[in-house]
Amino acid sequence: MIDPFGRTITYLRVSVTDRCDFRCIYCMAEDMTFLPRADLLSLEELERLAGTFVRLGVRKLRLTGGEPLVRRGVIALINRLGLHIGHGLDELTLTTNGSQLGRFADELMAAGVRRINVSVDTLDPDKFAAITRWGKLSQVLGGIMAAKDAGLKVKINAVALKGVNEDEFDSMLEWCGIHGFDLCLIETMPLGAIDGDRLDQYLPLSTVRGRLTRNWTLTATDHATGGPARYVDVAETGTRLGFITPLTHNFCEGCNRVRLTCDGTLYMCLGQNDAADLRSVLRGSDGERVLEDAIMAAIARKPKGHDFVIDRNHNRPALARHMNVTGG
Ligand code: SAM
Ligand code: SF4
Repeated sequence: MIDPFGRTITYLRVSVTDRCDFRCIYCMAEDMTFLPRADLLSLEELERLAGTFVRLGVRKLRLTGGEPLVRRGVIALINRLGLHIGHGLDELTLTTNGSQLGRFADELMAAGVRRINVSVDTLDPDKFAAITRWGKLSQVLGGIMAAKDAGLKVKINAVALKGVNEDEFDSMLEWCGIHGFDLCLIETMPLGAIDGDRLDQYLPLSTVRGRLTRNWTLTATDHATGGPARYVDVAETGTRLGFITPLTHNFCEGCNRVRLTCDGTLYMCLGQNDAADLRSVLRGSDGERVLEDAIMAAIARKPKGHDFVIDRNHNRPALARHMNVTGG
């Protein structure tokens, strides 16, 4: 699959549910409405679609959400998807809030998952409760250690929030170093209406990076994981630190991915509204060819880049869609 700008699409992110057991302040409003269950793809439909993408050239699959591990039966899906590893698929991975890892870490490993991203914005239990509204830090840390013990490579994702966790990046980097985890910092993106004020939350990572260089030796590296992060090596820890900066610099040039939501909508860009309805194609025909044609037609519409902007006059997000729909 090659898009009109010559980018080869090899990475599919699949949001397996829009539901979540947390309500992070930058991601969701507290009283979110979720999709009616009838609109969701079944696990079998998700598996069929993912299989088609792998046949068309996808080499990396990431399950996300909402919280992927709260979808009932998700381990059965992960087991089925794991069968593609070595047969077109190089990697099956997931992004999780970690709340269910204590239960599922061993099963993920057995299914062929080798690396996971866990989102943890703070190591302070009270702040964690304030950011996630419904989350419990001890449960997440327990889950992370279960993942480490199971042999999964863990990367910690933290959204940089002005005035909330900006004083913690030194200690988080140190903690990650002790456990051998890479850390990836993310700028907030203006997706979906939330209860707070976007501009209050936005913290440019150039500032964060400047502050971290006071205590850490950061050396640029060309390490790439197939995602949008730029990495540096941290000499003192032997781990890596990544920066995802969608607003301060354009990360679209090397974009190799598309996003499938749990209702079968394919978004060709996280920062644009154009999408393809694959659910009706999937339900309308058993023919594999029809589905492949619909996917190829969508790839041919992949835009050059995103239009993230914050409407500063009205403090409105550029896109009405919340992050739990497309999974980040
Ligand atoms: N529930 C899982 C989790 O939290 O890891 C997976 C889905 S979550 C939507 C994926 C990632 O998107 C998380 O790392 C989260 O912190 C990030 N995220 C959510 N809303 C965001 C926003 N408005 N700006 C930047 N990152 C965001
Ligand atoms: Fe849930 Fe992840 Fe969104 Fe937090 S960031 S509310 S854990 S989907």
